[in-house]
Order: sequence, then structure tokens, then C-alpha cells
Amino acid sequence: MEGTKRKTYEVIIIGGGPGGLTAGLYTSRARLSTLLIESALFGGQMTTTELIENYPGFPQGITGDELSRLMEEQAKRFGMETVTQEVVRVSLERDIKVVETHESTYRCEVLIISTGTEYRKLGIPGEKEFAGKGISYCATCDGAFFQDSRIVVVGGGDSALTEALFLTKFVKELTVIHRRDALRGTKIYQERAFANPKVKFLWNSIVQEIKGDSVVRSIVVKNVKTGEVKEFETDGAFLFVGMVPRTQFIKGVVQMDDGGYILTNEDCETNVKGIFAAGDCRKRLLRQIATAVGDGATAAFAAEKYLEGKE
Ligand code: NAP
Repeated sequence: MEGTKRKTYEVIIIGGGPGGLTAGLYTSRARLSTLLIESALFGGQMTTTELIENYPGFPQGITGDELSRLMEEQAKRFGMETVTQEVVRVSLERDIKVVETHESTYRCEVLIISTGTEYRKLGIPGEKEFAGKGISYCATCDGAFFQDSRIVVVGGGDSALTEALFLTKFVKELTVIHRRDALRGTKIYQERAFANPKVKFLWNSIVQEIKGDSVVRSIVVKNVKTGEVKEFETDGAFLFVGMVPRTQFIKGVVQMDDGGYILTNEDCETNVKGIFAAGDCRKRLLRQIATAVGDGATAAFAAEKYLEGKE
């Protein structure tokens, strides 16, 4: 088959966020032949985070770009190979794992899945049409386009609050629209948001539609308590209504929960021998950079033990 690589790696890691980069650092340092496949930028969600305040070792915080760069540099130091491709399918040939991208096919003895999550879509009229024309899922990428504007941020979790606070650097005013009357996000972000004069809140409200011409002009909002529907003018909407795991490509191969999060034991092992999951894509209580890093190390060490057991 054209483009097919016949080499069998000891370890393939899918996903170059903190979990995958840590796994790669550990396996390549353990002298296991390692390939890391990443579809976009190394660092994953860190690359779209302005300031990271809760990763130990950086008392003043560190920018997402810088932490991504440092983790990538460290992971590559011990000989890990990398490619920028999107994995579309994983299958099994006895105990060899076959990883297909659009361009190529790779084989390995151990597979570590660390593909993280992506922003959930609201699935409302106008969301697709106006993506990139006023609808955004990334404040650090798009915030500067909204200088002196009036925008809305949808959601009540850490993403909505941290991104809203970041956006106050640019906008004149923003309204956080949340479907309940209590926020889900961490208390320190709530305090900062409540204290920021540019941040307003619209409670018990859901966005039903996004309208505009060549760009977003207004949103239709329903109050879930009163049933009242109103249209508001806005220059843009940032949507942060949670995350969904990026695990579609391995559906049917490993066990997952109903939400698509991969089920593992505490050593990050899935139900398939030689396939591990690390970071946000696996079912776990907390999803942070610190927990992804811990998973990456655990999965790599467990992978090494698995390979030793095969000899
Ligand atoms: P999240 O914690 O799941 O919050 C999603 C928010 O969107 C919730 O407030 C939820 O409302 C709302 N929502 C969900 N579906 C909705 C819908 N269909 N319509 C309207 N609203 C909807 O997601 P997240 O904020 O993206 O955070 C994901 C994870 O990353 C969390 O573990 C978070 O702690 C972490 N994170 C951490 C940081 C940090 O520490 N700096 C920053 C960003 C994210 P309800 O509250 O009513 O469910």
C-alpha cells in the first residue's frame, strides 16, 4: 500500500498535549522506539490558554505557548519521532496495533491514546454558519478581533470564566450567559469575574439562535425560568459549554463510557492489552495539565512493564 510504513514501533502515542508529551519523554528516555502522532500543534489545549496559574513550578504562572514549547523540547530530547497527521482509525492484528492516518499506516506494540477533548458545540441555528465570523471557541486566538466590542460568552465553567476574563483586555463589555443561576467554575475565577466591571451576567438563560449577515449581529436567548425569548444585539459569541473526548477513531476497539471517555484501570490500561489512555480523553475525576502529565508518566511506565512481560 502506498505510503505504508512497515516499521513496527515499540510505542506509538496519539496526541501531543501534556499527557502525550510526558508519555513520549518517558518512553524515549527508556529507550523504547517511540512515534508521537499529533494532528495540529504540540501542547494541545495549552496552546490556546493565555496564562496557566495552576501548574506547579511556575509561581507567577506561565503562558500556554511557553509551557507547550518547553514540554515539546524536553519530550523530543531523547529521540522520539513525531509526525503531524490525523489518526482516523485504529485496528488490531493479533497483538500489533495498526494506526491509520489519512496519509499513512503505522504499526506498534503499545499504543498510548492521549487525544484530549475538544469544545462541545451548542448545535443551534447559526453556530456553524458564523464560525469564524463572530462565533469562536478560542479567546486567545480570536480575542484581538473584538477590540472595543460588545460580546457574549456562553457557559458557566472554568473555560467560560477564564476566557471571559482574558477577553476583558479587548472588549468594551461582555455578558456571560449561563443556563443556571450558579456558576460551575472554580471560586477564584468566580471572584475575579464578579469583581470585573466589564463582566455582566445573564442567568437562567440559553442561546437558541445566532443571527447576522456576513458577521454575527444578534443572538436569540430564552429564559428557562420564565420562558421569555429575547433577541440581543452582539458583535460576537464565545462558546464554552464543555468538552467532548476526541476518541471517535478508536470507537469499538476499547471500552468507553456513554460520553466517549475511555475506561482504564489506575495504571491507565484499557481493556485491550497494550493499549493505554492518558489525560483528558480517559474517564477520570479531574482534567488538568497536572493530571494529564501524571497519566502520561503512568501510562509510559505501565507500557514499559507490558513490553518487558512480552519478552
Ligand atoms: P465544564 O466544566 O463542563 O463546564 C461547561 C459549562 O457549560 C457548564 O457551566 C454547563 O452548565 C454549561 N453547558 C453545558 N452544556 C450546555 C448547553 N448545551 N447549553 C448551555 N450551557 C451548557 O467545561 P469547561 O469549562 O470547558 O471545563 C472543562 C474542564 O477543564 C474542567 O475540568 C475545568 O476545570 C478544566 N479547565 C480548567 C481551567 C483552569 O483551571 N485554569 C481552565 C479551563 C478549563 P452547568 O453548569 O449547568 O452544567
